[in-house]
Amino acid sequence: MNQAAPNDFNRVIDADRAHVWHHMTQHKPLETTDPRIMVEGRGMRLWDATGREHLDAVSGGVWTVNVGYGRESIGEAIRAQVTKLNYFAGSAGSIPGARFAEALIARMPGMARVYSVNSGSEANEKAFKMVRQIAHKHHGGKKHKILYRERDYHGATIATMSAGGQPERNAQYGPYTPGFVQVPHCLEYRAQWDVEEYGLRAADAIEEVILREGPDTIGALCLETVTAGGGVITPPRGYWERVQEICRKHEILLHLDEVVCGVGRTGEWFGYQHYGIEPDLVTMAKGVASGYAAIACLVTTEAVFEQFKDDSDPMSLFRDISTFGGCTAGPAAALENMRIIEEEELLANTRAMGARLMGNLRALQDRHAVIGDVRGLGLFCGAELVADRATRAPADERLVQAVVADCMAQGVIIGATTRSLPGYNNTLCLAPALIATPGDIDAITEAIDGALRRVAG
Ligand code: PLP
Repeated sequence: MNQAAPNDFNRVIDADRAHVWHHMTQHKPLETTDPRIMVEGRGMRLWDATGREHLDAVSGGVWTVNVGYGRESIGEAIRAQVTKLNYFAGSAGSIPGARFAEALIARMPGMARVYSVNSGSEANEKAFKMVRQIAHKHHGGKKHKILYRERDYHGATIATMSAGGQPERNAQYGPYTPGFVQVPHCLEYRAQWDVEEYGLRAADAIEEVILREGPDTIGALCLETVTAGGGVITPPRGYWERVQEICRKHEILLHLDEVVCGVGRTGEWFGYQHYGIEPDLVTMAKGVASGYAAIACLVTTEAVFEQFKDDSDPMSLFRDISTFGGCTAGPAAALENMRIIEEEELLANTRAMGARLMGNLRALQDRHAVIGDVRGLGLFCGAELVADRATRAPADERLVQAVVADCMAQGVIIGATTRSLPGYNNTLCLAPALIATPGDIDAITEAIDGALRRVAG
């Protein structure tokens, strides 16, 4: 990439510093240092405005750019669609909308309907609204409570934060919406029960909450299939099967948040497909169009959809709308994104490269006592850093951030849990694009190795 001309670069920096409010950023230090401005991306690599190259191990920082940067064919699909028809409200259909829904459902056996929106938060809110409306229409308003899990994250709006299991994200934004009830997390490394079958015990803990609250008051259980920002928590053996059993027994809808897992990240189209379970509602966002267009979806079974069909009752339809859910760029990009994943066999690559990444991380764990645990599924991996392996005391957040900064200085962008759980923002997060090569994977773990040698001795 050609470096931006110094004058242009300085003007961009000045405009950014004067007017842009960055996400999740403390701006005080930016009074004396330059903000990072990303300019161009190709494949796994990015260039900033100073011309510096970065290897991106977190797919756009937040596990999003699944098929990599610079995809001409996605750009072309968007251009062709928006110059023909860019928009009409979602009360009508569109050609890419219908084609995308058909293609998506073909990859989600058991699911039937696609509701298009803009963001993961919005998709989750729509699911909450559906659950509430079903409660009012079919259960006299009773089955309205929604269970969520400690450490999970479902979005940044007030309702999704009401279902937020990360105290540092939630602090200072309350009061929250009533009707959301927390269940315990399932991270075995931070075990809450001393038992052999941890997965079953952690699932049974959900049932204990259901029985305490009353099954007839609970409409849905909303969980991340693999918890992302709460510490990359892969479910323990037997967990999902038992969770499904419990939901069926108590007639509770299973809402899986696949905003991160969705569309290939774990080596299957969806994370839940590793476990043979059948959700009622699935939300997805980030990888659906790899960030080339803003599209998120709530996908439901036909049984959920049927509960809104009743033309004798004018209030029975889902009285909800999302203006930009009608943009055609989203499904056009998502269709091409899906075609790329299929044609380039990226699910198989994700499984192979995910296994390599986990193997490399385990080798690092053998060399660095600071790595307490490594977890992952496909190209969705985490390494939890500890101050003491024996006690599992979490590493200081400053050390974790120093590892991230050292990797950045080496030209490799990795992530870490941030402002999530008090004392437990200690997991390095890795989610390279599904196109990663063995060389990319090794370069990522070599950078972490070097950083740990320098930062953690
Ligand atoms: N759900 C999960 C699991 C997420 O990780 C995120 C975002 O990080 C969201 C929901 C919210 O998505 P969005 O930022 O698109 O609203």
